[in-house]
Amino acid sequence: MKYFIAANWKLHKTRAETREFLRSFIPAVQEVTDVDIVIAPPFTALSAAADEIKDSNIQLAAQNVFWEEKGAYTGEISPQMILDAGCKHVIIGHSERRQYFSEEDVIINRKIKAAKKAGLGVIFCVGESLEEREAGKTFDVIKREVEAGLSDVDSDNLVVAYEPIWAIGTGRTATAEQAQEIHAYIRKILGNVYGNKANDVRILYGGSVTPDNVDSLMACKDVNGALVGGASLKPESFAKIVGFKKEK
Ligand code: PEP
Repeated sequence: MKYFIAANWKLHKTRAETREFLRSFIPAVQEVTDVDIVIAPPFTALSAAADEIKDSNIQLAAQNVFWEEKGAYTGEISPQMILDAGCKHVIIGHSERRQYFSEEDVIINRKIKAAKKAGLGVIFCVGESLEEREAGKTFDVIKREVEAGLSDVDSDNLVVAYEPIWAIGTGRTATAEQAQEIHAYIRKILGNVYGNKANDVRILYGGSVTPDNVDSLMACKDVNGALVGGASLKPESFAKIVGFKKEK
């Protein structure tokens, strides 16, 4: 299975900064053929990024989407608009959207359906908080989020990202064993719904991935890529992550 490594830039980078990043990043990864390389800039930088990545091996993603096609929804962006800006994928269900913007499972499911219907690939994020992990609720939370988010959704063009909230932006990474345990569990839940097709769904790990820990995480059987925040903001560091050593 081809690895999938995506940069989530969150609320970072102007158009000029996006162009500057890509002008140094693209040559650094141009030989990479065995990884789908994806960048998710903020909405305002998507067009500049689309322009820079033309003729490169980089794909574009948006960080959020609304579920309606058009209408009186001030401030929202539709799946069609995202496609029009040059995106192939969209991140949905990120813990920051769940936490700060009250996006619950039902909203996330609606967004996933709309994005897939429009032909976008979906990077669907799930993960437990520290409190939930310490209370022994990790498996229950993951099961609820996966099943609710993917209700009536097929497995085509779907990537799932496991992002333990306690590891996001904290410098505290899940160990390879902790990641593999939950990835295998997610694969099992997907298997209940999709049967053998679950083996084709790529499951990414996200949470303080760096050039130093990427090799051991990617070596895990059910880890098929990474979603990277902080360490994706510098071209050298993200290029090192994309060029990780394959030892599966
Ligand atoms: C993220 O928010 O998707 C993420 C994984 O962030 P970081 O790599 O900074 O922990």
